[in-house]
Amino acid sequence: MESWRGRRGSVSQGIRLLVVSAHAADFVWRAAGAIATVTQNAGTARVVALSYGERGESGELWKQPGQTEEKVKEIRRSEAEAAAQILGAAFVPFDLGDYPLEIDRAAVDRLTQEIRDFEPTVILTHAKEDPFNPDHGTAYQLTERARQLASGAGVASAFKTIAPPEFLLFEPHQPELSGFYPNTFLDITPVFALKTAAMEKMGAQQYLREYYSQRATQRANHARRITGNKNILQAEAFQRVSPQVMSHF
Ligand SMILES: [Zn+2]
Repeated sequence: MESWRGRRGSVSQGIRLLVVSAHAADFVWRAAGAIATVTQNAGTARVVALSYGERGESGELWKQPGQTEEKVKEIRRSEAEAAAQILGAAFVPFDLGDYPLEIDRAAVDRLTQEIRDFEPTVILTHAKEDPFNPDHGTAYQLTERARQLASGAGVASAFKTIAPPEFLLFEPHQPELSGFYPNTFLDITPVFALKTAAMEKMGAQQYLREYYSQRATQRANHARRITGNKNILQAEAFQRVSPQVMSHF
């Protein structure tokens, strides 16, 4: 992960990646490659799922007669846990409910504490807006707020602060309509088999597997043209929010 060079030295080593996912599966489609890249290179990754996506993103499960919200949540939790395990990440469900995902003071405090405790060097979450989904933008707002509260203003504060993590957004389903500007690409070729295995665990949304495999191939095409590196076969795209600070070109 060339551009996510840890503050403590070698590539990926010492990287602590926090992914905040509105629903249980979002992190798998959009950031599984990033997570696996970190964990395969001696870094640590943690996924916070704000909800299980039990109401808005589990349509296939609701086709079963006699289905209940509790059963759907249980299935989604075990799928997401299995996917996170394949990727080598811890899975932390907040179970705040979806459609709508609503954020109260307790949720802000909880995510802020999570960030203070884990001290991520990189945070990934949803784009600022998503005209097709009421919860993805809410997840962005919560993450942005908690990130600011945990790191303060970059100076000493009345509360414990952490070094400001790098902040990037992962790719939404309809990027142009969500105002997503892909200015950072990650070569996920070495870990793509892990992403595929993680996607296969999400039984309730199998229709997305092909879509996100194609996306990885298309983003790799862009990454090859940007770099001239012909060995990039799969890539994930991100939008970097925090400016990059360098000590050399
Ligand atoms: Zn979602």
